[in-house]
Amino acid sequence: MAKVPRGERLVLTLIGKRNAGKSSLINAMTGQEISIVSDTPGTTTDPVAKAYELLPLGPVTIYDTAGIDDVGDLGQQRVKKTRKILFRTDVAILVTDSTEVDEDLETIISDLKEMKVPFIIAFNKNDLNPLPKATREYCKDNNIAYASVSGTSGDGVRMLKEKLVTLVPSTLTHENNLVSDLLRPGQLVVLVVPIDLAAPKGRLILPQVQVLREVLDSDAVGIIVKERELEKALAGLSRKPDLVITDSQVVLKVVGDIPPDVRFTTFSTLFARYKGDFETLVNGAQAIDNLKDGSKILIAEACSHHTQADDIGTVKIPRWMRQFTGKELIFEKSAGNDFPENLEEYDLVLHCGSCMLNQIEMKRRIMECQRRGVPISNYGVTISKLHGVLDRVIEPFFMRSR
Ligand code: SF4
Repeated sequence: MAKVPRGERLVLTLIGKRNAGKSSLINAMTGQEISIVSDTPGTTTDPVAKAYELLPLGPVTIYDTAGIDDVGDLGQQRVKKTRKILFRTDVAILVTDSTEVDEDLETIISDLKEMKVPFIIAFNKNDLNPLPKATREYCKDNNIAYASVSGTSGDGVRMLKEKLVTLVPSTLTHENNLVSDLLRPGQLVVLVVPIDLAAPKGRLILPQVQVLREVLDSDAVGIIVKERELEKALAGLSRKPDLVITDSQVVLKVVGDIPPDVRFTTFSTLFARYKGDFETLVNGAQAIDNLKDGSKILIAEACSHHTQADDIGTVKIPRWMRQFTGKELIFEKSAGNDFPENLEEYDLVLHCGSCMLNQIEMKRRIMECQRRGVPISNYGVTISKLHGVLDRVIEPFFMRSR
C-alpha cells in the first residue's frame, strides 16, 4: 500500500461503552487483528490508531477507544482522551450491544451532534440480540444512520461500511486543490526552500513535497532553489516565472527579488486554504492590530518536536510580533493533540501549518476558536502580515490562473 500522509487519511473512530465489542468490530471491519479482543471490560485503555486501506473509502485511520463508561480517575482521563480523538474524527461509529437507543446512547449522540461529528450506530452482537423493529423505526424516524452487526461473525459489517461512505462530509471526498487551480500546463513555478538549521537532514518537509507533487501533476514546470540562489536562478531563466512560492520564514528577503507582476505566495498560505478556512485565517491575522500590552497569544503546534535555537513558533514569531506591535505580549505554547480547553483566555491563536492534521481536525480547531470568539490565524499568514506582504501573498487566490 502506498504511504499516505497522516493528515490525508480519513479518521474513523469507534466509541461506546466498555465491552460493547468495539475491538472485535474493528477487527471484522479490517479483517485484521488490530485490537485486543477480550471479554474483560476495559481492555482498550488508550486510543489505538491503525492506518488501513478500507474499501470503498480508501486510506483511513481507525481509532479504537476506551469505554466511555470507564471508571475512576484513570478512567476519566481515558474518556478525556477519547473526546480529543473525536475532535479529529471524520465519522464516528457508535458501538452498542444494547438493542435500543437508551439514555446513555442518547447522551453520546447529543455530544456528537454538538461536536458536529457525523456518526452511525453499530448495534453489535446481533448473533445474540437481534435488533427489534421498534429500534429500527426509532432510528429511521430520528434520521439516525445505523447497522445491525456482529463483530464475531462479520454479519452486517459490509452494510456498515457502505453506510459509512455516505456519511463522509462531501468536503472531504472531493479533491482539494493545494496549488493546481493556480496553474496551467507548461507554466513555470519557482519554489523557494531555505535549508537552514531547522530543515530536516537529507529531505524536504511534507508541505514542500506535496506542493511540488501537485506542480508536476498539473504538467507545470517546477524549479526549486534556496533563497540565496534565487536571484541567480531568476536571471538564468528565459522568461519570468508564472508563480513563485516561498517558505514564509524568508518571505521578506524573497519578495524583493520577485517582479511585481509575478504571482507570489507562500507554502503556508497554500496550506491555510487547503486545510483550514482561508478567510478566517486571513481575518485572524488582522487581530494583531488590536493587541495591547498584556495580550495573550497561544502558539499552537500540531506535533511536539525539539525546539531549535531560532524556533519559528517560540522565538521568531514572538520577536516579530513585539517589533510590529510595540506591545508587551504574552506567548504560551501548546503542542501535539492537546488543543487547550481555556481558549477564551487568549486574544489570538496562531497555529502552525497543520501539515500533519487532517482537514476536519484543523477546521474543528478553527471552529472551537470561533465559538469562543478568539481570532485564529496560521504562522505563514501571520508572518506575511508582520512583514507587510499579506495582500501580495493572498492576491493569487483572487486572480487564479492567467
Ligand atoms: S508542527 Fe505543524 S507544521 Fe510543523 S510538522 Fe507538525 S503539523 Fe506540520
